[in-house]
Amino acid sequence: MNQRQNAQIYSDELAGNQNRQNVMTIFEKIIARQVPAKIVWEDEDAIAFHDINPQAPVHVLIVPKKVVPRLTDATDDDRALLGKLLLLARDIAKKLGLTSGYRVVINCGPDAGESVPHLHVHLLGKRALAWPPG
Ligand code: 5GP
Repeated sequence: MNQRQNAQIYSDELAGNQNRQNVMTIFEKIIARQVPAKIVWEDEDAIAFHDINPQAPVHVLIVPKKVVPRLTDATDDDRALLGKLLLLARDIAKKLGLTSGYRVVINCGPDAGESVPHLHVHLLGKRALAWPPG
């Protein structure tokens, strides 16, 4: 999906486009087991699975089961859930042996390259990661 398509999805959502309201994201389909994924962890609140297009030897997505499109849409009621996602990143990093470090990323909106409008945390590791990001 290119940047223009990302921006279109984002602007459709901002406009409350009715046509998208009943469309499941790819992550909802993974949660519902309609689409396969290499799942590394799951409970009632969240699921974690390997990214289909990994940007590092370890690239896991940590996804809340509650549909929050992106960080901008999170509310104070999501405080515990957001904290849980970060602690899950910590635990999965340990489980996957990321002993020399890792990066946790949330892409929010078109400028950040968000491509799936369902909040998720990227966990990247097992290689040295450049800074600043592109
Ligand atoms: P974003 O660009 O929104 O921050 O991240 C979305 C991520 O979801 C991308 O890294 C992309 O590779 C990943 N992704 C998209 N579709 C699928 C899929 O069907 N399965 C898995 N495992 N990852 C996906």
